[in-house]
Amino acid sequence: MPLQLKEDMIAKLIEESLFKYQALFDSNMIGIASTDFQDRILKANDAFLAMIGYTREDLENGKLRWSTITPKQYDDADAQKITELSQHKRIVPFEKEYIHKDGHTVPVLVGAELLDEALSVGVCFALDISELKELEQKKDDFIGTVSHELKTPLSVMKLYSDFLRNSIEQGASKEEMIESAREISAQVDKLSILITDLLNMARYQTSEPQFALSAINLLECAKEVVNELSLVSERSIVFQGERAVYVTGNQARLSQVITNLVNNACKYSAPGTDIIVRVHKDDKNGYVQVQDFGKGISPENQEKIFERYYRIDHANDYDDEGAGIGLYISYEIVKRHGGRLSVESDLGKGSTFTVSIPLA
Ligand code: ADP
Repeated sequence: MPLQLKEDMIAKLIEESLFKYQALFDSNMIGIASTDFQDRILKANDAFLAMIGYTREDLENGKLRWSTITPKQYDDADAQKITELSQHKRIVPFEKEYIHKDGHTVPVLVGAELLDEALSVGVCFALDISELKELEQKKDDFIGTVSHELKTPLSVMKLYSDFLRNSIEQGASKEEMIESAREISAQVDKLSILITDLLNMARYQTSEPQFALSAINLLECAKEVVNELSLVSERSIVFQGERAVYVTGNQARLSQVITNLVNNACKYSAPGTDIIVRVHKDDKNGYVQVQDFGKGISPENQEKIFERYYRIDHANDYDDEGAGIGLYISYEIVKRHGGRLSVESDLGKGSTFTVSIPLA
């Protein structure tokens, strides 16, 4: 068959066949590209081009070829997939990577369908799964962190319980024994907070937890938390607020949020600096603000800290770090109250977290 005729037939076939996928093609929800299995990308939608950072001009100038966007290590797997395509007329979606125009790799889920065997033309569907992969990575890191967070208190408890046994056997002073018991109790508290967070996280992921809501006074709720934490913390937690602020909420869950914010403020600021808890209202919302004068959070991290598993690497500035789920849970609780949890922060100066809940 003359080359030009074949080219025209391929073009017509692609036009006709892509008509089948037109809605999908135009929706740009998924990257779609057609191929002649000769390294050429014949047609591609905007989503496909955006995924790999190329322009339509690049495509039309022939700059965009499968070999340009495919990392070498996928050559064998791709050859196998093309055989699968000619045998079964389709490729079951599989994971691979493309090379973005700027050089970074993009994890994708790719499937394909053979449009015409004789003309050897196919259409390929590609979904960018970067976010999914990132989440998987964060999950792996999270499991590592949680294992560490669970193991450390257990090791400390073991140490102090051995110490306590020796103290009893050797008739040590009552003070020494009380100190060991106190340390064991503090580690149990740490474990209990972590396990509660883990259970809460599982609940928030799988269902809409139902809160029993009633009119509560945010001022009293925050004051109680401050009083309780002041008893166990060496930090000065200053409470500001006078007028009652009634919101419709769940007292236990909102206490949990405020406790988490104050604990974070203590964890991520230097000993000796104040923590301020402020309660006020305007005509729509009640507010609880927790301010610290600590490390602060960079603007790019401010956007991410409410995500599940997200933690900032403070490069060992603070040794009492957590598992990256406290703010996620707090955010979800406040959201389910119809409110908002936000942060303002200056690196090196400190952070202010604000809970806003619609007034009752
Ligand atoms: P973690 O258990 O790791 O503290 P969170 O979900 O409570 O998890 O917080 C997520 C991350 O946000 C923390 O790892 C920490 O780096 C950062 N962060 C939270 N609160 C503060 C704060 N007050 N100041 C600075 N960084 C904070």
